[in-house]
Parts: sequence; structure tokens; C-alpha cells
Amino acid sequence: MNWKTDLKLADLDAATRLEVTCKRCGLCRYEASAALMRDPELTQAYLDEVEHTLRCSDRVCRGAVRVALVHDSKTEGFVGGMA
Ligand SMILES: [Zn+2]
Repeated sequence: MNWKTDLKLADLDAATRLEVTCKRCGLCRYEASAALMRDPELTQAYLDEVEHTLRCSDRVCRGAVRVALVHDSKTEGFVGGMA
């Protein structure tokens, strides 16, 4: 049990961005929650389900990803260089 199983995509502010990091190749991208909710399957999904649904945007890799919330007003969420 963690925040990912507690929080639905629909609970997030539309301006909230998610950091989507590939567990395999490390490719990182940002997705706005509003953009993800255009997918009807994700509208009522909890963030752990979102994490399972999303895949690496690299067509060759397609690895599983890890999602994190991005708090633009803080720098604590910065995770550069972590294995
Ligand atoms: Zn990847």
C-alpha cells in the first residue's frame, strides 16, 4: 500500500505532471495528468495501474516504467543520477 494505490489519476490537478521513467533504459519523459486522462481506460485508474499501463516511449525498448509526481514549486523531487 502506497500513494500510488491511494491516488487516482482523476484526483490529480489537471496541471499536475507525472515523471515517467523507464526501468530498463532510464528514458525519462513527462506526461500531464490531463493528457493521460484522454485515454478512457486511464481516467479512473489508480497511479499504480497507470504505471503498469504505460510503457517506455522508445519503440525498441518498450520497457516497464516508474511514475512519480512532479512538484514544480519544489526541488526535492529531483532524482537525477539515482540507480
Ligand atoms: Zn526504455
